[in-house]
Amino acid sequence: MPDATIFADTQAEPKRVYVWLDWLEKQLPFPVYRVTKGDMTAEMLRIRSRKNEPEKGDWARSLIPSYVKNRDGSKGIMQRVCTHDYKILQIEKKVKELANIKRGEKEIKVTQWIGISLDEAHRMKPARQPWIVHRWPLIDAGMRRSDCLKWIESHGYPRPPRSACIYCPFHSDVEWRRLKEEDPEEWNKALEFEKNLQEVKAKTHNIRGMLYLHKSLVNLDMVDLSTASEHGQADLFGNECEGICGV
Ligand code: SF4
Repeated sequence: MPDATIFADTQAEPKRVYVWLDWLEKQLPFPVYRVTKGDMTAEMLRIRSRKNEPEKGDWARSLIPSYVKNRDGSKGIMQRVCTHDYKILQIEKKVKELANIKRGEKEIKVTQWIGISLDEAHRMKPARQPWIVHRWPLIDAGMRRSDCLKWIESHGYPRPPRSACIYCPFHSDVEWRRLKEEDPEEWNKALEFEKNLQEVKAKTHNIRGMLYLHKSLVNLDMVDLSTASEHGQADLFGNECEGICGV
């Protein structure tokens, strides 16, 4: 039995994740700690000025792995800072506090369970801190995502939503299509975010090129998702370290 579970909140998850978490908290025999670095969306849309070098123009922080159409037409992807700053560091901070870890600790003091399933075994990574050891109980039990869903159903529990930011550029086409068809309110938030991100980009000078949420470098509302299948934009959470996002 774990001592606690920690949810690192970017404040950009779909509503259904928070509703499910409220429900889950009441079922678990151990506490759920919600930690946050703040509103990630607002942080990305905040335009900052350079007080010491105003001639260089305003700038904005890029945190998520948006796709970039460079001025010469080539394609790129922004560095992903979000998982590290808004998830991994916040979880580590809370674990450190709960386990009373002293500076310079070298001995293993904490076993951290990570809920990725057998289909995601490629995301297993060792812990970054010497005082944490990772375990993957679902992988140890040989459970795939479908086995987890069957287990949940057979116990009469509601089907859990997938946890990820509404506008995560790592969404597969199937996930984008699901959002569009089943959750129009959240879909509209993703469209609005993309528009705001592009407007901020147009007003600042630190990013060359235009930003998009979809790999095709087309605005999300123009992407044809009608035939979305697992062969379209792949689910890129496999690139994500330690299995923190998209679980
Ligand atoms: S879900 Fe996507 S956007 Fe959100 S923190 Fe993870 S990688 Fe970043």
